[in-house]
Amino acid sequence: PLPTVAFIGLGHMGAPMARNLAAAGYPVTGFDVVPAALKDASEHGIATASSIEEAVSGAAIVLTMLPGGHHVHEVLDHALPAARPGALFLECSTIDVADARRAHERIGQAGFGCVDAPVSGGVAGAEAGTLTFMVGGPDTAMDAARPLLEVMGRTIVHCGGPGAGQAAKICNNMILGITMIGVSEAFVLGEHLGLSHEALFAVASQASGQCWSLTSYCPVPGPVPASPANRGYVPGFAVELMDKDLGLATAALRAHGVDGALAEQAAALYHRYLGEDGKGRDFSAIIEDIRRRSS
Ligand code: NAD
Repeated sequence: PLPTVAFIGLGHMGAPMARNLAAAGYPVTGFDVVPAALKDASEHGIATASSIEEAVSGAAIVLTMLPGGHHVHEVLDHALPAARPGALFLECSTIDVADARRAHERIGQAGFGCVDAPVSGGVAGAEAGTLTFMVGGPDTAMDAARPLLEVMGRTIVHCGGPGAGQAAKICNNMILGITMIGVSEAFVLGEHLGLSHEALFAVASQASGQCWSLTSYCPVPGPVPASPANRGYVPGFAVELMDKDLGLATAALRAHGVDGALAEQAAALYHRYLGEDGKGRDFSAIIEDIRRRSS
């Protein structure tokens, strides 16, 4: 029989991930502090618990999908004393690398296995079971986690030891945040120089300006029909999430004394946009902010 799973955090991402595990035959018991999330889970064939302790007490796998690092540590306060011997902790939230390493330590000291396994792919990827998992932790824990990750995701990369999954996630999203601003500034400059979006795309997508923010997620409508620019910048990947991830990246830059001038600047620009009119929009709408600020 497949191992039992305690799934803590049934939000935008957690709910569809838990549903995919249940659909694949895993016995899943869910817990969330929001009653509506529990009700929704039970309507989708997921058993629900009334506390973290109850959820984890019968589980071989404890999966967490929570907003941030302090939620993870709060959940561990309850889960560690109640988990059963041999349990494996699968921590999928996006959190600070230092928080992730501390979680590994606490879980290891309590005698359990652990991987940090943050994801990319968004709600659409969670629903379709096509997430990318970036995993940190020992080989034994990775091997035990892999079958579940393969249900919820399509690409699974073992990045290294404890915290390496979170490190890969924030470094990747740091590239994404910076390149989207670079592409956006170039398109707005092109507009001022009388260059059409189509011409700039035709050149840059084949030349040395080529990058994912341009060729897969172009911030102007037209060249890449699937990009959020073609549907009013409905996310996609919301400015709120980019703001969060760049906050984690800049915290790590400072903690490690790395001179990340562009990441700091990008974090400040998305943060300002979020406080003005970026709320609820896709992060590529930053181009509208750049256009508005240009004379
Ligand atoms: P969400 O806020 O929708 O879900 C988090 C859930 O955790 C909520 O339902 C909340 O009630 C629950 N929760 C909070 N504290 C709890 C506690 N103590 N016990 C039990 N449940 C608790 O967030 P989300 O969009 O599902 O994202 C989850 C994580 O995945 C975040 O770390 C986020 O950065 C990351 N992520 C999100 C996306 C995305 O597109 N939404 C993409 C990649 C990664």
